Amino acid sequence: LIRLEQVTKRFGQNTVLDHLDFSVEAGKHVTLIGPSGSGKTTILRLLMTLLKPDEGTITVDGQKLFPASDKEVREVRKKIGMVFQQFNLFPNMTVLRNITEAPVTVLGMSKDEAVERAKGLLEMVGLAEKCDAHPAQLSGGQQQRVAIARALAMRPQVLLLDEVTSALDPELVAGVLDVLRDIARSTDITMLCVTHEMNFARDISDQVLMFDSGRIIEAGAPEKIFSEPEKDRTREFLSAVL
Ligand code: ATP
Repeated sequence: LIRLEQVTKRFGQNTVLDHLDFSVEAGKHVTLIGPSGSGKTTILRLLMTLLKPDEGTITVDGQKLFPASDKEVREVRKKIGMVFQQFNLFPNMTVLRNITEAPVTVLGMSKDEAVERAKGLLEMVGLAEKCDAHPAQLSGGQQQRVAIARALAMRPQVLLLDEVTSALDPELVAGVLDVLRDIARSTDITMLCVTHEMNFARDISDQVLMFDSGRIIEAGAPEKIFSEPEKDRTREFLSAVL
C-alpha cells in the first residue's frame, strides 16, 4: 500500500534519509524504532506531505505522492490520517465539531452522517460523554483519544502515529495505547507508528523496522527483533530503552 523507493532527504548538509527503500502492505502494522534523530519522524512527515524528499519516489495505494502534481497529492492525502505527539485539536471547537469538521468540509459528508459517525468513534475511544466539551477541559490522554477519533473520521486507509504518547503524563499512556491496540485488532487500517513504547510495538506490530542514521539496519517480526536481534546496534538500542 505504501512504497518508498530510494528516498533521500537532506536538511542542509545533514542527510537524514539515505536512499531508503521500504514498503508496507495493506492492513499491516509497521513500527519504526531507533535512536533519536535517526529519521523516523521524517518518514511520517514525508507521507503527510509536510516535507518533500530530495530524491526518490513515494506511492500510496498505487498513486503517486512524490513526484506528483498538487492534484495527485490532494487525492492521496485523503487516504492518510495522522496523529501527532502534540494533539493539535482545534481549541475553539467542541470535541464533536473537531471530529465532524473535516468529513463535512473535505469529504462533503452530510452533517447528520458526520455527527453519527463521530459519536460512534467517540464511543470507540471511550469518550462518548465528552461530545460537547472543549479540548482545554480534557486531560492530555483524552485529547489524544479525540485526535485519534478525528483522524479515523476521515476513513483513512493509513494511520500514521508519531510518538503519540510521548507528551502524556505516564498514568495517561496506557489508556491511549489500549485504544490503539483495539483499533489495530478490530479494523483493517494500515498503521505506521513511530514509538518508544516497546511493549506496545511488540503487541501490535506485524513488522518492526530498526533505524539508524537514516537507514533501516534491521527489519523483522517483533518476536525476532526484540528477542534475537541480529545487529549489535539494535541490541544496544534495545538494552538502553527496555
Ligand atoms: P526523534 O525520536 O527524536 O523524533 P527521529 O528518528 O524521529 O527522532 P527525525 O525527527 O526524523 O528523527 O530527525 C532526523 C534528523 O533530521 C535530526 O538530525 C534532526 O535534527 C533533523 N531535522 C528534522 N527536521 C528538520 C528540519 N525541519 N530542519 C533541519 N533539520 C531537521
